[in-house]
Amino acid sequence: MTLHASYRAAVLPGPHEEIVLRELPAPSLSDGAALLHTLCSEVCGTDVHLHHGRLAGVPYPIIPGHVAVGVVAAIRGRLTDVEGEAFHEGDVVTFLDVYGTCNACYQCLVARQTTRCPHRRVYGITFGVGDGLLGGWAEAIWMKPGVKMLRLPHGVAPEAFMGGGCGLVTALHAIDRAEIRLGQSVAVLGVGPVGQSVVALANLSGAGDIIAVGAPDSRLSFAKEMGATATVPLSVPSAERTSLIRDWTGGRGVDVVVEASGSPEAVSDALDLVRDGGRVVIVGHYTDNGPVLLHPHHQINRKHAEIRGCWGSDYSHFHRALGIVARMGNRVPWAGMVSERFPLERAGEALQAVADRSVLKAMIVPS
Ligand SMILES: [Zn+2]
Ligand SMILES: [Zn+2]
Repeated sequence: MTLHASYRAAVLPGPHEEIVLRELPAPSLSDGAALLHTLCSEVCGTDVHLHHGRLAGVPYPIIPGHVAVGVVAAIRGRLTDVEGEAFHEGDVVTFLDVYGTCNACYQCLVARQTTRCPHRRVYGITFGVGDGLLGGWAEAIWMKPGVKMLRLPHGVAPEAFMGGGCGLVTALHAIDRAEIRLGQSVAVLGVGPVGQSVVALANLSGAGDIIAVGAPDSRLSFAKEMGATATVPLSVPSAERTSLIRDWTGGRGVDVVVEASGSPEAVSDALDLVRDGGRVVIVGHYTDNGPVLLHPHHQINRKHAEIRGCWGSDYSHFHRALGIVARMGNRVPWAGMVSERFPLERAGEALQAVADRSVLKAMIVPS
């Protein structure tokens, strides 16, 4: 494969600033490193938050793009997947965007939740442009030694995986936390990429009624294609939505509610919607969207409700997500979630399209 001395990248200089194109030198690859030529990288809701300066500890300027697919253009040493099979130049891969979990701290070794490791860094979010080609909105991505690459299974097109992408991986973690039992009713608040994949995975988990709540109507229609059995638009006032959904569930409320909207009010709605002894998973608040007033007696204590948070993803979520797309991609329209593709020079437009929700998912296709 032809390597280049430098590669173009779309750079976010700082909060509220315009995306600019920059040429960065190719990294010199040490043993255990690889270089990907980027095929596509997604524009995630997190990138909008990065643009708005709503994430702490971001070393601007950065190259956004945390979930991406590329072709291995160069590799140094023998790199293998979890089966021990070697990666080769020409392989089409994605990678765990989380880098540097230490396997030495309390969170990694005792609590066994690497997503809370304080040394954890994330491609496209917590690396600065000075660190090199460490974001997906670029013609090439540097796989530093230790980055976990994953080969796309045979028959899985890059865009089929990326249609789910970050939202699918996040949703898989949320579904793990939700522990849905066969036939249980589920409400999903929010019909962005995470909510859509939560709907699909709840369906694959054997849920009974799956009620999607959100806006706009086009996203609610898509949620039905993903497996929702009923939808409720946000134009229906909150109290009416709750009584409507309670009516559908024998007056009890739903067994499991997954909040994937990022709205603080949705957390209160979720607690109103869940049945006594039910479970609420909160996955929509990756950034600080502010507080909300809860009524502990009515909404939590007397209800005997269980509330679970869900933060980030680890290797297992990526690994299993690829297997799910390989087996279920013909039944679940993940590929259809990508509504528009943008070259690097139009990355700013892509960001705007996601911010104003004119597309469900935008993809950056560098070349
Ligand atoms: Zn650690
Ligand atoms: Zn993301």
